[in-house]
Amino acid sequence: MPAPLTLSARAQALQPSLTLAIAAKAKQLRSEGRDICSLSAGEPDFDTPAFIRTAAAEALESGHTRYGPAAGEPELRQAIATKLSAENGVSTSSDQVLVTNGGKQALYNLFQVLLGPGDEVLLPSPYWLSYPELAQLAGASVKLLPSDASAGFRLRAEQLDAAITPASKLLVLNSPSNPTGMVLSRADLEAIAAVLRRHPHVAVVCDEIYEFLLAPGHSHHSFAAVAPDLADRIFIVNGFAKGWAMTGWRIGWLAGPRAVVAAASALQSQSTSNVCSFAQYGALAAVSGPRDCVIAMAEQFNQRRTLLTEGLQAIAGVTLRAPQGAFYAFPDVSAYGLDSMALCRLLLEEVGLAVVPGVAFGDDRCIRLSCAASPTTINDGLGRLQRCLATL
Ligand code: PLP
Repeated sequence: MPAPLTLSARAQALQPSLTLAIAAKAKQLRSEGRDICSLSAGEPDFDTPAFIRTAAAEALESGHTRYGPAAGEPELRQAIATKLSAENGVSTSSDQVLVTNGGKQALYNLFQVLLGPGDEVLLPSPYWLSYPELAQLAGASVKLLPSDASAGFRLRAEQLDAAITPASKLLVLNSPSNPTGMVLSRADLEAIAAVLRRHPHVAVVCDEIYEFLLAPGHSHHSFAAVAPDLADRIFIVNGFAKGWAMTGWRIGWLAGPRAVVAAASALQSQSTSNVCSFAQYGALAAVSGPRDCVIAMAEQFNQRRTLLTEGLQAIAGVTLRAPQGAFYAFPDVSAYGLDSMALCRLLLEEVGLAVVPGVAFGDDRCIRLSCAASPTTINDGLGRLQRCLATL
């Protein structure tokens, strides 16, 4: 008998994305006729705005169907650089921008070219579940910087200072945050910058993919605009998925110091090559166009976030500080005595509610519910949650 194929150590250590798995499971159960309410998806339920779809369709019809430059169409790289300079206050030129298959590939490429064995990634926790996997795929280790709801899930400057070692290579900042909805203020970022000035070997990646999704009273600040003196070690990851409702288009970007962006671009040229060429023209229309559509969707998310937040806060035993951005709530449900995986399994089996266990984001006391769903679905989900919790 031939010897069975063994997977690489890298593949054996990899955990598939639990959020994608739960969303897929909810869809499958629904297709089998089960009455399922899903608040698991991290995906706007709006259609991509018409002018963006039209631009991509026209690019397709006019022959943008061939290989393009691996780093992205020059007009799109320029438009993203212009957006970063004008909208985020981060002076950027087009050779500092790499167009990627979503924010996820931007992170993947960056981690691959920057990190290796012996390097440590500093990761504020709770965290988006792909960061540790992407760091470990690059051979790096992860040091968690835990925070909890009572501290508003914020990274404290003294905590960061104490965590840094000579091996610390990259700090991950994600604001607005998935899963907590925490938004770092200018003062938070200034305090973080003061720490990093004392530790010149630590670079930062700022995942700004939820930049437009902010509760009233909160603003998005790009770290590179707050601390321009650190620009030679700050990377920005962003994309079209959340703000422009373009999840399936798979377009994001990496921006930052030229030499590293060039290395990430070389990696992309040897792995996936360019992002779908005609889709990039849709992205070009989006980033160069007016922000009305983005603002209108963000307003809807604000109403839904409030609906979800108030509904959760009204359930006895559920503890939640109002999220400040993104489209998630991350309540502490530990008063019910189950771990987050067991509770989510129970919710799916007993009341057909799909939500994501907090353990996937580094906090087993919590569950993540998404408000990227219609108000009717959010109310339905809240009702199911309350019914199930009442039996415990
Ligand atoms: N960063 C965060 C914090 C996210 O929540 C997501 C998607 O859920 C991504 C990056 C990746 O987005 P994209 O669909 O552009 O790959």
